[in-house]
Amino acid sequence: MITTILDGKKTAELVRNALLAPIAQLIQTGHTPGLAVVLVGDDPASRVYVNSKVKACEQLGIYSQKWALPTETTQAELLELIRKLNEDPRIHGILVQSPPPPHIDEAEVIRHIDPRKDVDGFHPVNVAKLVLEDPSGFVPCTPLGCMELIKNYGIPTAGKHAVVLGRSMIVGKPMASLLVGKAANATVTIAHSRTRDLAEVCRSADILVAAVGKPELVRADFIKPGAVVIDVGINRVEDATAPRGYRLVGDVDFSAVQPLCSAITPVPGGVGPMTIAMLMSNTVKACRQISAG
Ligand code: NAD
Repeated sequence: MITTILDGKKTAELVRNALLAPIAQLIQTGHTPGLAVVLVGDDPASRVYVNSKVKACEQLGIYSQKWALPTETTQAELLELIRKLNEDPRIHGILVQSPPPPHIDEAEVIRHIDPRKDVDGFHPVNVAKLVLEDPSGFVPCTPLGCMELIKNYGIPTAGKHAVVLGRSMIVGKPMASLLVGKAANATVTIAHSRTRDLAEVCRSADILVAAVGKPELVRADFIKPGAVVIDVGINRVEDATAPRGYRLVGDVDFSAVQPLCSAITPVPGGVGPMTIAMLMSNTVKACRQISAG
């Protein structure tokens, strides 16, 4: 079978290029889109993510603020910063990098972000808008990026059986909502750690989205021949031969699965680059909506 490799780098570039004109238009009318990225603590992976988000803003002419707060930052101090950012007219998007240190109540922090500036789409108002299919809401960037990849490659979803592996609020549940919604019209099954006969459930999928966080859990016997496979997982596995002592693998055993499917995302270079591109897209949308009043 000839397999299409769903190229996230290229598709993310298309998304970014499509934002240039709307950004220029907003700037012309005195509304430069602005994103505040808040990092609490010194988790190295979070630091990398935050820096790449700020860099992506710079490349597009989006104003950005990076708040790198010490691990000891209290809940009250963090909520006070969120309050200030909610009121700052230069800021249209607020993102608190996950995971924060254990003493921070992340759900409470998210509830304090103005839903109009919640470009991660985690606030309960935006979760509700996704389920209600209200287009003014913000959809979490990773599932939004998966849908953009699917759309960009012209992959049909209507009437197809989509299996979403994972039920997190960040990926699995919003992905299932998008697939079952009226724009995609798929028939959706959500599978998770308690699902019985996981391989068999996955084998019934025309579209399989893996968001589990378990290296190469999805093997060849999980795949219906011709299926489309979207691998959201980013897992570090030790590899003494790699320059950093580890390599990145997805939730899918790529070399075993790829020959069976009609299309598949690589890791890295698949869903990962889409996430940041969709964050830029959500920030521009927030600026447009807030400036329109
Ligand atoms: P999570 O830990 O919040 O959720 C994992 C889900 O997988 C849970 O719902 C759990 O029920 C399910 N699960 C766990 N073990 C299972 C098993 N053995 N069989 C079936 N289901 C199982 O993780 P998350 O935040 O949704 O992230 C999932 C993966 O996606 C991680 O590897 C993460 O690094 C990656 N991720 C990538 C991006 C990106 O930009 N590409 C963004 C977010 C997350």
